[in-house]
Amino acid sequence: MTPRPTRLVLLGHPVAHSLSPTFQNAALQAAGIPLTYEAHDVASHDLAAVLRALTHEGAAGNVTAPHKAAVAACCARLTPIAQRVGAVNTFWVEDGALVGDNTDVEGFHNAVVQLRGAAPAHATVAVLGAGGAAGAAVAAIAGWEGCTARVWNRTAERARALCARFPGVAIVVDSAIDAVAGAALVVHATTVGVAQDAMPIDPSLLPRGADVMDLVYRPGETLWVRAARDRGHRAADGLPMLIEQGALAFERWFGQVPNRAAMWAAMWAAVGR
Ligand code: NAP
Repeated sequence: MTPRPTRLVLLGHPVAHSLSPTFQNAALQAAGIPLTYEAHDVASHDLAAVLRALTHEGAAGNVTAPHKAAVAACCARLTPIAQRVGAVNTFWVEDGALVGDNTDVEGFHNAVVQLRGAAPAHATVAVLGAGGAAGAAVAAIAGWEGCTARVWNRTAERARALCARFPGVAIVVDSAIDAVAGAALVVHATTVGVAQDAMPIDPSLLPRGADVMDLVYRPGETLWVRAARDRGHRAADGLPMLIEQGALAFERWFGQVPNRAAMWAAMWAAVGR
């Protein structure tokens, strides 16, 4: 059995902007667990030493950009899904060894189900981006019956590397327009729109009836999500996935389901929605 973590940390660089401490601490408080979830800004050259110290302490936590792949390489054991994605967003210590998991995949799946009522089946899904978040999306799509992913990325080589890990499911296309053509669901997984009102693709190019899942989040939602909704698309930003991956991580650490209402309430208070 996994012992209860002695500490909970979020490792990233930068990490001060993260909303995870806000909703994880709300979940801890609601569950009466006397721990505080803390964000730690860790530079890449310090990561291995920090992980060794956390393993020794029996800590657990989450990982965000840019460390997800590097943490996967440092773990003594990976869950099958973390191995498939090649990235860790959740870790804990078991029998003195670091275990890495990936709850982004199921978090993404849950967010899509919240948006549409069910995961797509026998459909084409457009994925814009080929980084860690896109990888989690493609891993989820691989589990959806009869679905294929059309992946476009600014750097084509990265899209090719991602699709090579999911043969028969994901194919590289030459443009964002090619990716979205005929798609039932359009997933945006680049950093466009994080810091400014930019859009990954003109909403007028979205197929009629396509659902829109933007993994980016910012106060007041992203411009792209608002514009897509104005055109009649069902659309969600990255907050549902963020909460879901965090709730699933909480379950891994404590073996109990967190209070999602408390997590959302803390999130709304923080982002002013
Ligand atoms: P990442 O691994 O660093 O990948 C970044 C992606 O953005 C790559 O596809 C990159 O393309 C693309 N990109 C960066 N700048 C661009 C630009 N100016 N124009 C076009 N494409 C650009 O990051 P990640 O972890 O996948 O995160 C991607 C996004 O998803 C971020 O906004 C992050 O906040 C979000 N995210 C959300 C959740 C959630 O729970 N909602 C979870 C994870 C990530 P190149 O390969 O060409 O550089």
